[in-house]
Amino acid sequence: MDKKRILTGDRPTGKLHLGHYVGSLKNRVRLQDEYECFFIIADLHTLTTRPEKSAIEEIAENARDMVLDYLACGIDPAKAVIYLQSAVHEVYEMNLIFEMLVTVPRLQRLPSLKDMVQSANLAEMPFGLLGYPVLQSADILMPRAHLVPVGKDNEAHVEMTREIGRRFNNLYGEVFPIPDVMIGDVPSLVGTDGNTKMSKSLGNAILLSDDEKAVHKKVFSMYTDPKRIRADIPGTVEGNPVFIYHDIFNTNREEVEDLKSRYRSGNVGDVEVKEKLSRALNRFLDPIREQREIFGSRPGYVDEVIFDGTMRMRQEAGQTLLAMKKAMGLTGIWNRISRKAEKSRKKREE
Ligand code: ATP
Ligand code: MG
Repeated sequence: MDKKRILTGDRPTGKLHLGHYVGSLKNRVRLQDEYECFFIIADLHTLTTRPEKSAIEEIAENARDMVLDYLACGIDPAKAVIYLQSAVHEVYEMNLIFEMLVTVPRLQRLPSLKDMVQSANLAEMPFGLLGYPVLQSADILMPRAHLVPVGKDNEAHVEMTREIGRRFNNLYGEVFPIPDVMIGDVPSLVGTDGNTKMSKSLGNAILLSDDEKAVHKKVFSMYTDPKRIRADIPGTVEGNPVFIYHDIFNTNREEVEDLKSRYRSGNVGDVEVKEKLSRALNRFLDPIREQREIFGSRPGYVDEVIFDGTMRMRQEAGQTLLAMKKAMGLTGIWNRISRKAEKSRKKREE
């Protein structure tokens, strides 16, 4: 039996961070043997908030950095198709077709879009941003994916995709499987500033490519329990970003439990808690750094990975778009007209 398929990916707006890892990357690496994987470099999605030429000029370099992060984390291009969205023209067409299958109020109800307008400092909602989940649906349905591993902020978009897929199938016949969402162990990793979401654009991220010093500096500037102004004041562990990170990334459970109990009773300074976190995070990042060195030292390798993946995706996309248009009867319109045109032209010339 053919393997089931995964589609997921990221916007090339910068380097990847710990939130990406726990929210989605970890699942991708884990599932790449079991599923046929398609990972999208979603550059068209960056245009929804940053359409300026200067931003577009940054995409290629960001895409390379992102793919290097993928490889460093263990994504294997022999098992996964890694492709550049803007180079697969079928997605523009699919997007338009799907736009007909969704209403404006349905999109306006999505809280994720309002958040994006805010964090991008936009005064009003661009039409394209309102359509973000529609474009994302085209991405997901293009390889006819069954599973979408993403962070919590994307859950509602996958629900939208399911609705669009069902609506298409109901109107025109079964073309698409209805994909399931898979949220990571950590649905939304907090930022170093205590914001509910670590994000590239919020400047509250620890990057997978940060060196030891950078990690140390970021950890030491982290938001902790604001009521604890001295080491001998009992502090709160629950919801405290420093301990959230300890719980996720520090594999020395004993050390974590010891720090927690001393924190609660006011017997440990922030410096020790942070020092140990910085060490734990660096231990976690070390093997990723090593791999990045190896892949990064092969000139052109990352570009080849993206090129090969994109060529592969183009084939897949062509097949899906054709299946869609056939099911809809769109190909039939053109076929009839062009056949008649040829016939009448021939007759005239005879
Ligand atoms: P931007 O700030 O440019 O939107 P981002 O950091 O939110 O960037 P995206 O490219 O939007 O990153 O997200 C890529 C994937 O990573 C999505 O599946 C998203 O849900 C997941 N993700 C991003 N940030 C986090 C986080 N803090 N916790 C868990 N998952 C996350
Ligand atoms: Mg985002």
